[in-house]
Amino acid sequence: MPIRFNIPPRAGRELEYIKEAIDSGRLSGNGEFTKRCHVKLQKLTGAGKVLLTPSCTDALEMAAILAGVGPGDEVVMPSYTFVSTANAFVLRGVTPVFVDISAETLNIDPEQVASAVTSKTKAIVPVHYAGVGCDMDSLMQIAQKFGVLVIEDAAQGMMSAINGVPLGGIGDLAALSFHETKNIVSGEGGALLINDPELFERSEIVWEKGTNRSKFFRGEVDKYTWVDIGSSYLPSELQAAFLLAQLESAEEITGRRMAAWQRYRQNLLALEITGKLRLPVIPQGYRHNSHMFYILLNSAQEQGKLLAGMKKAGVNAVFHYQPLHSTPAGRKYGRAHGVLKVTDDLSGRLVRLPLFADISPGQVDFICEVLEQVMGTRGY
Ligand SMILES: *Cc1c(COP(=O)(O)O)cnc(C)c1O
Repeated sequence: MPIRFNIPPRAGRELEYIKEAIDSGRLSGNGEFTKRCHVKLQKLTGAGKVLLTPSCTDALEMAAILAGVGPGDEVVMPSYTFVSTANAFVLRGVTPVFVDISAETLNIDPEQVASAVTSKTKAIVPVHYAGVGCDMDSLMQIAQKFGVLVIEDAAQGMMSAINGVPLGGIGDLAALSFHETKNIVSGEGGALLINDPELFERSEIVWEKGTNRSKFFRGEVDKYTWVDIGSSYLPSELQAAFLLAQLESAEEITGRRMAAWQRYRQNLLALEITGKLRLPVIPQGYRHNSHMFYILLNSAQEQGKLLAGMKKAGVNAVFHYQPLHSTPAGRKYGRAHGVLKVTDDLSGRLVRLPLFADISPGQVDFICEVLEQVMGTRGY
């Protein structure tokens, strides 16, 4: 049996909650399960306000609308990220400006951000790669200095923190993902976190298709009407019911992933010491969620060799992002800020190893053995 790259976790109460939702006779969005998820997520992230969305992509699109950006504006983001980070802004006519990452964490480099900001810049979009926080102190300072928003792409960052402050609770806005490849899942799913109180009211309107329906439900207006742009950004109660079960087990699921992450690290430490590969770096004071276990090899050639060798042995290891500044759409809609040396170099040398809540210690050990065999370091 091949070892899959990912298997979505089960918390246990998903079916029970879905049945409850069905029995309630109310399946559309913004019902009881959605509200319970909002409360739970607010506790876990410290966010000012939470709105569930059908995906993180949707949450990012909402964030771009709420940022009030349009044609002629720019947003600064890493090139080393998923397409949704950029698409959300391109859909509003905004130019993404791609900057380099720092080699230590593969997160956006604050020095590059500072030098990329112009009078057109409206927002900085840090992406917390592998669930390890960006240097938010520096980024928030830069944002304050230039008067621009910070929108966290915290798709991978659920349950991570910097000096005790959860990711997603730091920027003006943040987006989480509950896609089945993330830590806490609902198949597809996401949430927008709103930390700037000035955006609370409009966020509900954009969420409710551009109407003041939420105000109507609270009895604050007599009838609801079309007041702004918006879209269908509410997940159904079935999705929220599944998600609630997962959120209630978030600590436990993260703990199971962490055990596998630590075992990988322990098993591969000797290879790092002998210079065969590099392991993830977790800066002092940062708590991570073991979203990903990646290794950095010494060359792109080794990456190809390892991926092929692992596949042959039945292990689904994978590479990651093709830097956006080099993609057809990235060239058309965005621009690179200078030469993105670290991004171009590291993206060609990175390999992600299978990691999910139910992976067994034996599977982790097997994967590490295969890795050593393919790399010719066995017994070295
Ligand atoms: C997964 C991911 C997304 C998209 O999440 P969806 O919920 O699938 O829309 C966006 N950004 C990053 C960094 C991601 O890892």
